[in-house]
Amino acid sequence: MCAPSGKDHSLCCLPQPTTKLFIDGKFVESKTTEWIDIHNPATNEVVARVPKATTSEMEAAVASCKKAFWNWSETSVLSRQQIFLRYQQLIKDNLKEISKLITFEQGKTLADAEGDVFRGLQVVEHACSVTSLILGETMPSITKDMDTCTYRLPLGVCAGIAPFNFPAMIPLWMFPMAMVCGNTFLMKPSERVPGALMFLAKLFQDAGAPDGTLNIIHGQHEAVNFICDHPDIRAISFVGSNQAGEYIYERGSRNGKRVQANMGAKNHGVVMPDANKENTLNQLVGAAFGAAGQRCMALSTAILVGEAQKWLPELVERAKNLRVNAGDQPGADLGPLISPQAKERVCHLIQKGVEEGASLLLDGRNIKVKGYENGNFVGPTILANVKPNMTCYKEEIFGPVLVVLEADTLDDAIEMVNNNPYGNGTAIFTTNGATARKYSHLVDVGQVGVNVPIPVPLPMFSFTGSRASFRGDANFYGKQGVQFYTQLKTIISQWKEEDATVTKPAVVMPTMGN
Ligand code: NAD
Repeated sequence: MCAPSGKDHSLCCLPQPTTKLFIDGKFVESKTTEWIDIHNPATNEVVARVPKATTSEMEAAVASCKKAFWNWSETSVLSRQQIFLRYQQLIKDNLKEISKLITFEQGKTLADAEGDVFRGLQVVEHACSVTSLILGETMPSITKDMDTCTYRLPLGVCAGIAPFNFPAMIPLWMFPMAMVCGNTFLMKPSERVPGALMFLAKLFQDAGAPDGTLNIIHGQHEAVNFICDHPDIRAISFVGSNQAGEYIYERGSRNGKRVQANMGAKNHGVVMPDANKENTLNQLVGAAFGAAGQRCMALSTAILVGEAQKWLPELVERAKNLRVNAGDQPGADLGPLISPQAKERVCHLIQKGVEEGASLLLDGRNIKVKGYENGNFVGPTILANVKPNMTCYKEEIFGPVLVVLEADTLDDAIEMVNNNPYGNGTAIFTTNGATARKYSHLVDVGQVGVNVPIPVPLPMFSFTGSRASFRGDANFYGKQGVQFYTQLKTIISQWKEEDATVTKPAVVMPTMGN
């Protein structure tokens, strides 16, 4: 076992030989007999292990959330805000340490890991504006002497289930927004990358979060089923694959919970011949291969329109120049995939593309990274002449693979994108405002970039993936996030002007009309 820094992380922060549970304000060792190994993706060495929490441990975590709820929800909004103000500073102070941990467990480059923490930090900063976010509505004199107001109130115990690809950002999409609104929270991180969340939990405690307001369990399917079924959990935030997300949405909803599920994607970059070539090719390459393509907003599919098809050889040249290495090595542009299974799956989809008639212009399958021969590396790969019926187009590859299609016109490109079931993100590259306007207006995708390859909204907006990329009603963070984690209570009050004492009882249903 080896740690990414010389600091003493013995209180809670990973990597430690065993990942703790966080229950009722204490980092505790699980009593389970079932453990999952955590590997460094650059070496495949086991660096830590994570427990499959027992049922009684998971019950204790929910009971702790439930017990803490009343006091937390009654804590003034200003006091909750103060905790998050301290929290955002602590995350800033520890950003580099958290990032090292992410690179160690997840494999992405250090610069990208810093981006992972930073984009999560922005949500924490946004949560600090709770005083305006959580305002209700009022209408005085709705009828004579009668006023109506709504309060936005917390739901109770909420839960989050996170994926492996953003170990800090995605948990930070979840519990800060929920908790600043007055909910208590149960997190289940990805069993492959729990370290960053454990570090973030310690910082949250240091910021003054009361015991029991945040609890953390670990595990896989049993932990997920436990969350979907537990009667004391009111809402579930999920981010991950369609397979898990559809299941959790269905099971959680059936049990009467609110569920929001952000899922897989196939994001198209439409390249018009009038685009700024230099910028466009650089942006395409960065957005397709950065983070080894393990981003739900990776620009994994290019549609070259008309004359832009001639740019393909230059695109390949730029992709060739990217440096593949362990994420903590200077100059690395992309690191390894999360596991040998992920690598095998990506290589299989590349092969399938070749067999189904695509042209393999750049093949990263046999890449060797000096000093990291056992890592799960795949180099940048480009499949051209791809058609919509090919497996490599229909499936989310989630690796450093760009599939390239061709279209004669903008209309053809729009039709292609709209026929794809996913609606997470898309981008158009053009110097023509009318083309950009037409594309963003007609394309049926929840997040659209105009000369912006990865259009992930900042947290004063919401993350608005659509169609097969999302299940639920209210999206993550921003105003939508506050809606998801709160319920409305409407109070209609009548205070008669003439007298505080009613002289004659009203026996008819009020009509609001007089
Ligand atoms: P995953 O679905 O395998 O795992 C996500 C979580 O669900 C984990 O906590 C895991 O323990 C649990 N889980 C896994 N399989 C399950 C199952 N069959 N039943 C119940 N629970 C299960 O996802 P991942 O591989 O960790 O993450 C990659 C996926 O997440 C990609 O599809 C990516 O597009 C998606 N993603 C989407 C967004 C978004 O905002 N749309 C963001 C990040 C990642």
